[in-house]
Amino acid sequence: VPKPVAANDDVLEQFADTIGREHIITDASDMAPFLVEWRDRYQGAARAILKPGSTEEVAALLRTAHKHRTPIVPQGGNTGLVGGQIAFDGNEDFVLSLSRLNTIREVDPQGNTITAEAGVILQRIQDAAAEAGRFFPLSLGSEGSCQVGGNLASNAGGTAVLAYGSARDLALGLEVVTAKGQIWDGLRKLKKDNTGYDLKNLFIGSEGTLGVITAAVLKLFPAPRAKATALVGIESPEAALILFNQALEAAGPQLTAFEFLPRIGLDFVLTHVAGTRDPFADPHPWYVLMELTSGIEDTLENVMESILSGAFETGRIGDATIARSEAEAQSLWRIRLLLSEVQKHEGGSIKHDVSVPVAAMPAFLRAVTAEVERRLPKARVVPFGHLGDGNVHFNVSQPVGAPKEDFLDRWEEVNALVHGIVTEFGGSVSAEHGIGVMKRELMGEIKSDVELELMRSVKRALDPRGILNPGKVLPG
Ligand SMILES: Cc1cc2nc3c(=O)[nH]c(=O)nc-3n(C[C@H](O)[C@H](O)[C@H](O)COP(=O)(O)OP(=O)(O)OC[C@H]3O[C@@H](n4cnc5c(N)ncnc54)[C@H](O)[C@@H]3O)c2cc1C
Repeated sequence: VPKPVAANDDVLEQFADTIGREHIITDASDMAPFLVEWRDRYQGAARAILKPGSTEEVAALLRTAHKHRTPIVPQGGNTGLVGGQIAFDGNEDFVLSLSRLNTIREVDPQGNTITAEAGVILQRIQDAAAEAGRFFPLSLGSEGSCQVGGNLASNAGGTAVLAYGSARDLALGLEVVTAKGQIWDGLRKLKKDNTGYDLKNLFIGSEGTLGVITAAVLKLFPAPRAKATALVGIESPEAALILFNQALEAAGPQLTAFEFLPRIGLDFVLTHVAGTRDPFADPHPWYVLMELTSGIEDTLENVMESILSGAFETGRIGDATIARSEAEAQSLWRIRLLLSEVQKHEGGSIKHDVSVPVAAMPAFLRAVTAEVERRLPKARVVPFGHLGDGNVHFNVSQPVGAPKEDFLDRWEEVNALVHGIVTEFGGSVSAEHGIGVMKRELMGEIKSDVELELMRSVKRALDPRGILNPGKVLPG
């Protein structure tokens, strides 16, 4: 797909006619929050930030952009971790912020759906569902600022994938503005709809490169009526895998979370977050956060106790604590959810978001940890994440006291090492964060020529002038 030519000068005027000058940001300091991402890894640049207030305005903007071949970078809550939402060309690129499309259009408790515009913050969807006596399961560390459009565009995962699937599995319908500025109203509420190609799933996960999502119909579920949450101290990932399968056998679909973290991760949280405490008297090499939930009144605590006492008797787990109240459950979850944030306080961290088949996770962790420790003596591996999904955030913190920049200079080298081992284990180099700009060149290595050519054909068909998020996802 050819790179768009420079935006001509009257494009900005036409954009202003469409959405009003007051909804266009051009001042450098006001643009700054839209141009830096959460990890501070990319410093962006843009000609302006566009903030349309309706689907029709998005469509009109894109018609102008298409006509003038103007690059448009869609942006939601700017919490993406692969730089997909960042614009880089200060002369040509416009950021299209969806934040003013923030209406919940309908909550339908009988049909178990919620219809929301793209800019609605994820937490608001969860709250609106709860107010209607329903449950929206998508849950991420960034849920207070990410937007539902961004969640769908990046097919976000999070902590509830085990039972409910990724963002893709939670969407019934979409409204999308195409690169040419047409509005596709696909806001269907149908569970079954075998009518031709699945356009909805083409746009979901396309990271703003194929269309702009402006609204979605999402699935709701019965509000959980019973819940049991436990933190388990455990010897090894092997023991954790056995515990996972025992819990699955005992609780079936009621096993809704199975997360893991190493001791060093808990240490980071205890060191950097006031008010946290070690739930156990003695340290353990690993911890598992396990949750059972049910939509009917149930005695889940008994099920949890029987899973844990069985594992305890066979010596598979070292210790466990079951939350006795919602507040206790939240403080256990806090330990897990704070992990992304606390690594910042330990200097440079080289990140990986990878997946391997669930059963291969223990062997993978052993192999990759040994190699990284051999190559980077004194670096601290901090693998944590969604064990039940085979997804680990295999992060590597710098040696204590080492210069941060020197360590981060080895980012590509360490990525190549880790991704090589992931590939040997039949895994994926991007489990849930996507490709964006960070992993774009990897696509040439991990995808076959056939797969890449099919992807390029889709891009050409839907965005013939290559104006949507140029330079993202597909390799150059
Ligand atoms: C603390 C923290 C924890 C996180 N935890 C998880 C996790 O557990 N699981 C997980 O999967 N991710 C996680 N993430 C990353 C995750 O991808 C985002 O938080 C979220 O899904 C992105 O939503 P956003 O609105 O911020 O999108 P942005 O960051 O603004 O955009 C992400 C991508 O989507 C595109 N986009 C955004 N909105 C639209 C739209 N309306 N139409 C078309 N394209 C659009 C952008 O161009 C970009 O390519 C985490 C991030 C942080 C900071």
